[in-house]
Amino acid sequence: MRCGMWNWDADGGNDAAGQRVSPRLLVIDDDEADRLITKRLLGRIFGDDLDLETIADWDQAVAAVEAGGHDIYLVDHFLGAGTGIELIERGTRGEPDRAFILLTGQESRSIDLEATRVGAADYLMKSELDVSRLERSLRYAWEMLKHKRLLIDQATELRLAKSAIAEDARKYLDMARTLRKMQGDLRQALVRAENGEKQYRWLAQHDLLTGIPNRSLFLAQLQKDLASAERSGQAMALYMIDLDRFKFVNDSHGHKIGDGLLVQFASRLSRFLRKTDTLARLGGDEFAIITTNLDREASASVTAEKIIDAVADPFVVDGHHIESGASVGVVVFDGFEQVTPDELMQRSDFALYRAKDSGRQQYQFFDEELNRVILRNNLLKQEIQKAIGTDQIHLVFQPKIDVATKSIKGVEALTRWTHPELGVVSPVEFIPLAEMTGQILELSDWVLEAAFRTICQWRGSVLENVPIALNVSAVQLKNGDLVNTVKDLMRRYRIRPSEFALEITETTALEDLEAGIDRITALRNMGISIAIDDFGTGYSSLALATTLPADQLKIDKSFVSGMLTRSSDAAAVKASITLAHAMGMHVVAEGVEHMAEFEYLERHGCDQVQGYLIVKPLKALDLVEWYAVERDKLLRQAA
Ligand code: C2E
Ligand code: MG
Ligand code: MG
Repeated sequence: MRCGMWNWDADGGNDAAGQRVSPRLLVIDDDEADRLITKRLLGRIFGDDLDLETIADWDQAVAAVEAGGHDIYLVDHFLGAGTGIELIERGTRGEPDRAFILLTGQESRSIDLEATRVGAADYLMKSELDVSRLERSLRYAWEMLKHKRLLIDQATELRLAKSAIAEDARKYLDMARTLRKMQGDLRQALVRAENGEKQYRWLAQHDLLTGIPNRSLFLAQLQKDLASAERSGQAMALYMIDLDRFKFVNDSHGHKIGDGLLVQFASRLSRFLRKTDTLARLGGDEFAIITTNLDREASASVTAEKIIDAVADPFVVDGHHIESGASVGVVVFDGFEQVTPDELMQRSDFALYRAKDSGRQQYQFFDEELNRVILRNNLLKQEIQKAIGTDQIHLVFQPKIDVATKSIKGVEALTRWTHPELGVVSPVEFIPLAEMTGQILELSDWVLEAAFRTICQWRGSVLENVPIALNVSAVQLKNGDLVNTVKDLMRRYRIRPSEFALEITETTALEDLEAGIDRITALRNMGISIAIDDFGTGYSSLALATTLPADQLKIDKSFVSGMLTRSSDAAAVKASITLAHAMGMHVVAEGVEHMAEFEYLERHGCDQVQGYLIVKPLKALDLVEWYAVERDKLLRQAA
């Protein structure tokens, strides 16, 4: 409660925050009498609220002014060591929140001006000092001070707000920087992902060994080129290439050398191709090329010849000299016919197959005749499925005769297929097709069972105990469960191992040599006799004859039919007989058609013969009949 005679503030002496509001006063005057007068006057103005200190000494005055702590300073001008103006000057430096009133003993215009200059709120003459003047001056100073303080507060608030904004701005800047960095990181991650994807795509479409396109990219390119040939009417050619003797290189020199050969082969092929041509490795030793925009069919032969020439010179891989060569199947597409990539691939494949058949280092164009063969093969593939298990398929048997005694030592079971419309289809034609489609497994099971039934049928006849030899297909040896199938059927038909034999061709055994040898060994360990069939027709006959556990070696009929006219065939026959005997095997000559051949073979120590000279393959009961009639004649001949 305010008790003074004069209310300083309309709100009752408190500010909005409830703080005391009457000013703290400091009187600085070295004249004691004057101090007292001022004090008295102030007492009358403020009454109980008077908050007053006094200082007389100059140094104390300087310290008090510099320290602050009062609201209004009533400063005498003449202070001995210094002046009131000097004190005010010190007190108003910076942004002081206090007010100064200068008191002087004399009126002076210059002091008045000085006081205003240094920032005094008022200038009073001591001689004129009374309550009303002092109060007016104090009130004015106090209002000014409060106003100034308000401004200072606002300025402080503004400063705070400014620094808060600056702080926020800094944060936002930091956030923006972080975002930018994240953006950069993200971009890098995206680039890395993109590169990774590119790399992945490259890997998925290329052959890792040679770096050229693989089958999948090749097929995509073929589709594109085919479409553009159809649009433009410009011819294109597809070449299917097979490296000769690759399997032999792999088997005899190892995979590392084989790989090196493939890399060099790819590099030689790529050398003469144009940018728009495509070279790809389709798998193993199979390569393919597409050339587009052909002007004449002849340019396809030029390319085919270049391919063959490119591999005619021996390769040198890791110091090994390797003689190789290539077979090429070519198909030209003139843009006019409706054909799918698959059909083109099939045609070039087929032409390649024919090229290989006609000897190494050859190319073969796909033509109308091959087209007919393809169509027939497709038909046969469909028909054989329906034929298996029906009376369209049956077995015939051809005896193997002992050269010395002329007695039957064994018979070979051969499959015959008589189609109701197509007529007789040779196994030379349908067995490879059945192998391609996998139907050979079903067919072989049927053959095995039919042969076992014949063994049972022959018991008690002239052919009792004559072993029936069955031809084993590569697919059967590789993918089928041959060992268990044989065991099961032997148990079911009560067949002894001595009652049958298995014939394995070189290519069959070589397909997957290690697994093949394991299975053949398992069968032989069961007591089943094994024959190496068509000996001399493959690339590694010698290697095979020395690794494959076998009891019999069958010289291929191509050598037999040539041995009397070609010295190389004669040499092959004689060498085969010597080799077989050295390895503890019996020798059977296939395809003996003439007496002269028989005699030649007899002279050179061949053990058994099989061929039309003796008899053509016959049905089971026909052979029994034939033998019943012929046996004595044969034995007489031998005697
Ligand atoms: P292969 O095992 O070498 O059979 C001998 C082939 O020579 C048979 O041909 C036989 O009829 C024929 N032949 C026999 N004597 C003579 C002769 O004096 N002159 C001539 N020019 N040929 C003669 P076929 O029956 O046409 O069989 C051909 C090939 O088909 C067989 O050759 C064999 O590799 C395969 N084959 C036949 N039946 C089967 C079978 O059931 N399963 C398997 N996997 N292959 C079979
Ligand atoms: Mg055979
Ligand atoms: Mg044969």
